[in-house]
Amino acid sequence: MTMVGDGSWGSGIGIPDSLPRVQGHGYRIHCRNIASMTSKPVRNQSFAMINCDDISYFKKILGERGVVLEEEKLDDANTDWMRKFKGSSKLMLQPRSTQEVSQILDYCNSRRLAVVPQGGNTGLVGGSVPVFDEVLKEAAKLGEMSQLMLGACALFDTVHFMEVFLVLKHLDGLRDPLPSAKHNFYILIETTGSMESHDKEKLESFLLQSMENGLLNDGVLAQDVNQASSFWRIREGIPEALMKAGAVYKYDLSLPPEKMYNLVEEMRERLGTAANVVAYGHLGDGNLHLNISTRQYNDSILSKIEPFVYEWTSEQRGSISAEHGLGLMKANKIHYSKSAETVQLMAAIKKLLDPNGILNPYKVLPTSILSQSGVDEP
Ligand SMILES: Cc1cc2nc3c(=O)[nH]c(=O)nc-3n(C[C@H](O)[C@H](O)[C@H](O)COP(=O)(O)OP(=O)(O)OC[C@H]3O[C@@H](n4cnc5c(N)ncnc54)[C@H](O)[C@@H]3O)c2cc1C
Repeated sequence: MTMVGDGSWGSGIGIPDSLPRVQGHGYRIHCRNIASMTSKPVRNQSFAMINCDDISYFKKILGERGVVLEEEKLDDANTDWMRKFKGSSKLMLQPRSTQEVSQILDYCNSRRLAVVPQGGNTGLVGGSVPVFDEVLKEAAKLGEMSQLMLGACALFDTVHFMEVFLVLKHLDGLRDPLPSAKHNFYILIETTGSMESHDKEKLESFLLQSMENGLLNDGVLAQDVNQASSFWRIREGIPEALMKAGAVYKYDLSLPPEKMYNLVEEMRERLGTAANVVAYGHLGDGNLHLNISTRQYNDSILSKIEPFVYEWTSEQRGSISAEHGLGLMKANKIHYSKSAETVQLMAAIKKLLDPNGILNPYKVLPTSILSQSGVDEP
């Protein structure tokens, strides 16, 4: 899907020659057919367009190094990790302190310039890239935060054997760390406590007990950090391997744990041989990552997936967004998991904190709700 908005570059707005231009057309959002966006965003005409004075102001507070206008760098930042969404921002700012961030936002708010904050740009729902010409504010240069974690925590991730094969097939230099007898499901358990020997003891007794109860068929305990990371490499390599395998429709859902895999089976039945349906997730919090892998993006496959996947999740009283957020991809899908009252309340909070709606517009909430609650949208 390529959409051309109604702004246009060039005439009479004082764009300096150094600003890259989109040749021959106006603002555009470029999304591949990855989600049925029932109402496509339209550029909010109340947002200003960048001019020479804006650039001069930003150079004054950030210096030349903090103002990026080069097409190549902007192209990377305009494109999301999955290469599904592409905006057309003409300006990226790189503040180095919270004071600089504050100055930028203050200025953008007074000028009604829309802004998109961007960290590592690894988000999976189109939240980190501009939809039209919003100013990009890179947060990666903002110094590292240190964090102290106390106590113990345990991670329970599940992986199906199909994903193990997928990763080994598509990623180089990996060896299979699992015993030769393969099983349908694998649970990856990691505990982080203050005493390693105590953790090990607990895991061993859990494994033994679960095997005696018939809950588990087999189990392997990593003996050191290297072995542990070879298990995690399989789990963490799944998104990368899926990208290498072709097109991928990704869903990040919360479901009752006992229902998590039913959706995968139903989806396989619906799609037959047209797609490879794989899933993994976090068992502890009922988070399923459903991935539908096809050779290329295709409208007919998409129509079999959506709205079915959202309706199914809603029927189970699950959530259509577990940990990846709603971003642009699911801004119009929020009603599948949240009541009208909740969505109205969210819009009212957004309005309070961001009265001009300049902060990452077109994301998370449907634009129709934002205009009802008084946030100035088209
Ligand atoms: C291979 C792979 C594996 C992943 N695995 C997981 C996983 O296990 N669990 C998980 O939760 N996610 C996972 N993700 C998704 C993603 O990496 C995470 O959500 C991550 O936290 C995004 O961080 P980021 O810095 O790249 O944010 P970005 O993608 O840059 O931004 C994400 C959102 O945050 C906003 N934002 C960024 N910085 C700021 C800021 N300073 N202030 C305000 N808003 C800001 C952006 O505008 C955007 O809406 C994975 C992604 C990939 C590619």
